Amino acid sequence: DRRVLAVDELTKFFPIRKGLWRRHSAVVRAVDRVNLHVDKGETLALVGESGSGKTTLGRMIVRAIEPTSGRVKLRGDDEDWLDLTAAEGDQLRAARRNFHMIFQDPYSSLDPRMTVQDIVLEPLIHNHLARGAVARKRVLETLELVGLSSQHLHRYPHAFSGGQRQRIGIARSLVCDPKLIVCDEAVSALDVSIQAQILNLLKDLQARLGISYLFIAHDLAVVEHIAHRVAVMYVGQLVEQAPTDELFSRPRHPYTEALLSAAPIPEPNRHRERIVLRGEVASPSAPPSGCYFHPRCPYAIDRCRVEAPVWREISPAHHVACHRADELTLTSGWTDPEPH
Ligand code: SF4
Repeated sequence: DRRVLAVDELTKFFPIRKGLWRRHSAVVRAVDRVNLHVDKGETLALVGESGSGKTTLGRMIVRAIEPTSGRVKLRGDDEDWLDLTAAEGDQLRAARRNFHMIFQDPYSSLDPRMTVQDIVLEPLIHNHLARGAVARKRVLETLELVGLSSQHLHRYPHAFSGGQRQRIGIARSLVCDPKLIVCDEAVSALDVSIQAQILNLLKDLQARLGISYLFIAHDLAVVEHIAHRVAVMYVGQLVEQAPTDELFSRPRHPYTEALLSAAPIPEPNRHRERIVLRGEVASPSAPPSGCYFHPRCPYAIDRCRVEAPVWREISPAHHVACHRADELTLTSGWTDPEPH
């Protein structure tokens, strides 16, 4: 068992007021009974449109927000599982060094009044892991790991480009030697060529350090080259999860098929038709009956309107929640027309 993170039935409901005079209370089902795991040295991509709940899920995993129910478990250095959702005080602080989050906009997540040295140093001090010369040495080593050097130590974030700022953010998340990093749209704001550099850096760090990533993204094209497995979210629920190659060549959920058809393909020799979905993403405060995807699904049948599909393993390591997954042959424009 190589798991470092296990998420069981994780759920977040936000209470809201709606309607005329905001008289009616309702709940937003931001994340609804999600199960997933990440292995040591593995990247699991979590993909979905905005509003799918993927960021809320990532924030619950790093305990930036509390779940309504369910559990997040992290395997510690002693190989024992720690229930993060129940951890408090010293236990939580000790666990925090093991997971970190990198955000989309490294500029707003880096304090503009702090030097690079202090930005990267802070988690070490905060987690009581090192001080003084030992801490400064660790900061320099970490900056070198991400392609920066001692000449950057005393500069401020505004002096850096977007890609370099993301390197500083990565150094800050690495400095405590974590087991898992949650990357929330970590390359979405960057130019394509810089994106590739940062993705390569993340892969290189994984190979060297055995680190695991939960890689949150809305863009399937970005995750194809970094993820070992992909989980697809729709209105707070997982609808499909599979090894990356399999998901891209043989999707089993109509929503995944549509997402694949909409993603830009870098190679011109790949052909596929774009599937345009009807309507808007369902509202998590008033989700449809049955399968949440049914108002937009080109394959919906009567059963889909009344009965919620069950999450099941359709082939080894491939999970899906769709009534028609066995009978549909979905197309993936991601398969090369000429086999090589
Ligand atoms: Fe479409 Fe029905 Fe499958 Fe939902 S259960 S994805 S509506 S075919």
